[in-house]
Amino acid sequence: ANARLIHAQKLEALGRMSAGLAHEVNNPLSYILSNLRHVVHGLEKLPCKEEGLKARDSLTDACRDATVGAERIERIVQDVRIFARMDEPPRDPVDVREVMELSISMAARALRPELRLVRDFQEVPPVWGSEHGLGQVFLNLIVNATHALAGREQPLLRVGILSREDGMVAVEVQDNGSGIRPEHLSRLFEPFFTTKPVGTGTGLGLSICHGIVTRLGGDIAVDSSPGQGTTFRVLLPMATGQAAESALLALKRSV
Ligand code: ADP
Ligand code: MG
Repeated sequence: ANARLIHAQKLEALGRMSAGLAHEVNNPLSYILSNLRHVVHGLEKLPCKEEGLKARDSLTDACRDATVGAERIERIVQDVRIFARMDEPPRDPVDVREVMELSISMAARALRPELRLVRDFQEVPPVWGSEHGLGQVFLNLIVNATHALAGREQPLLRVGILSREDGMVAVEVQDNGSGIRPEHLSRLFEPFFTTKPVGTGTGLGLSICHGIVTRLGGDIAVDSSPGQGTTFRVLLPMATGQAAESALLALKRSV
């Protein structure tokens, strides 16, 4: 229990530091990016004589490269900001299936056409959470699965939503991708743990998921065999009882 407390305190300190850092980096970064995009755009439109052509092209290339780098930082900063903002979870009754459909459509661009997507959705009661927070969780899990499925023949992504006897709704995101090495399993939810090449993964996705889910009174667990695939299981407390009923009614009236 003491180790857990120290871990939580470390996370909190890290969160505070990250929030400050992300905030400071964000403004100059936006400034750099908007200027770079302006230059690239302008260069592309510039009418020019033959001899200027080469110089123009090399400038355009340089700006494009710089833009790619800056956009990478932009993504990292976005992740860090979400990570740092985790401690304000609004709790409303949320329709898990609706949020999952939204997350799937948001990930659609990253899904290969040959991917078989299986939905095992039961009718489930609403859960406590926010559409934004839970959407973040589901999207992270789906995107990770698509990464693990890259290059796999007959890629399969199964999404299950089921209600359990213990008052929890279980959301499962299962892939038949690369799987996870046993020695990595215990580190998955650590902030900044990633096995992806520098500049692609931030290692914040799962720690964001873990933070959001546990703050809602839920849990997240993983089951994986290397070479076979991985299942992430998220448990979310059902929003049942009087408070939930009236909150849900009010919610439905307001949309
Ligand atoms: P990132 O995706 O930026 O690396 P995450 O926190 O989302 O950070 O994931 C941490 C690590 O967990 C990944 O780098 C990867 O090694 C592993 N991982 C997560 N999801 C899966 C999955 N579905 N299959 C295999 N490995 C996974
Ligand atoms: Mg990820």
